[in-house]
Amino acid sequence: MFGLNDNCSIDQDQEYLTLEDYQGRVSRWCAGCGDNGILGATQRLCRDEQLPREKTVFVSGIGCAARFPHYMNTYGFHGLHGRALPIAQGIKMRRPDLHVFVNMGDGDCCSIGTAHWIHALRANMDLVVMLHDNGIYGLTKNQASPTTPTGLKTNTTPRGTMLRALNPLTVTLGVTNASFVAQVGEWIPDLLFEVLKQAFHHKGLSFVRILQRCPHFTPELYNALLTNPDNIVLLTHEKGMQIGETTAKIYKRQEHHDPSDLNRARELAEMSDRVPMGILYRNEEIGRYNEISRSGILPTWERRAEVLESAFDRFGIQASAAE
Ligand code: SF4
Repeated sequence: MFGLNDNCSIDQDQEYLTLEDYQGRVSRWCAGCGDNGILGATQRLCRDEQLPREKTVFVSGIGCAARFPHYMNTYGFHGLHGRALPIAQGIKMRRPDLHVFVNMGDGDCCSIGTAHWIHALRANMDLVVMLHDNGIYGLTKNQASPTTPTGLKTNTTPRGTMLRALNPLTVTLGVTNASFVAQVGEWIPDLLFEVLKQAFHHKGLSFVRILQRCPHFTPELYNALLTNPDNIVLLTHEKGMQIGETTAKIYKRQEHHDPSDLNRARELAEMSDRVPMGILYRNEEIGRYNEISRSGILPTWERRAEVLESAFDRFGIQASAAE
């Protein structure tokens, strides 16, 4: 297909990419799995932004969510458990021109990948990070993850989990340099799309916790939110998210929240009686490591080559004068 210009004339040099162009293999997620909705919203984002497929990369670790790169017709890297973030950072460091997305489950990000999660937030490189939080290890069949609610019986906790669940929002908001933190449920497509769009346009690491249904292992996890919209508080603001009319009619509890207010963002993240959805925090003033490292703080490639050459010279074997 060809691209349409603003004046509706056809630009034959510019290819217009459709939703189908971004679709990779047929998904093998269970029927009703919330990952399907996240995939659809992401493909729509790519289509609306007309992201060049050769300049777009999806990176994942291990788990159900980690199948994501296979279902996108872009570049992808299905990495090791918990290691999606350092891989994505390496890609962004070497190729800052690429659009880099990261898909991780709660086991992947909040357990084995925790150290990478914290340090990736601190580095604040320009990445869109989606945490698919279904409160369980799904791919490995029903083990408790750090976000599993207290008391849930799983294969590793047959009498029910004893610890309180980790809150990914409060953790993220507590890390130095966290610059974009949002939360959304995948069953609200308009909101999911809007949050992903804002995350994509943010300069820095955008951390989006997506509450994701797993009908197979945690079918009741988000029932309270699904059956009663009043348990959700939509965060609206002129500096934040635009909410469609239909969504606004269903979700009547709304808060006018300025996403630059870190203290209020932390309070919202800690709420136990209601669940905030939207952009909790955004700050574009925080430095991004992928840019700082290119602005003279690190040596240029020429300088690196010079240093390497001089190191090699120290150990080089010189032909003796006699020869
Ligand atoms: Fe989705 Fe759960 Fe099935 Fe995994 S086990 S594909 S998370 S429904």
